[in-house]
Amino acid sequence: MISPCVMSGHCCLTAPCLYGKAGEDGICIYLDQPNEIGQRACLKHDEIIEKEKSEPEILQMMGKGCSSTLFNELRNSVINELNREKSNDRNNNK
Ligand code: SF4
Repeated sequence: MISPCVMSGHCCLTAPCLYGKAGEDGICIYLDQPNEIGQRACLKHDEIIEKEKSEPEILQMMGKGCSSTLFNELRNSVINELNREKSNDRNNNK
């Protein structure tokens, strides 16, 4: 079973995908800055979704899950923040 993507940006920081482009620092220029819990959006998300729909023979990647779950500190950090938010919501609704 594949684990869900939590938008940590880990894979995009490892190397740009086939839709991306490395900047001078090697990081994809379409990777947005982290939000308050460390999640990073792809600024080409909608374009990639459309491309994947129109050319299904191309590798489908967006939203398909995470294959790098072990020792992934960025991913673990986002999961911890999401769990903290869930716990706070539960406590606030008591
Ligand atoms: S184009 Fe988007 S999904 Fe691809 S590496 Fe860049 S930020 Fe990540």
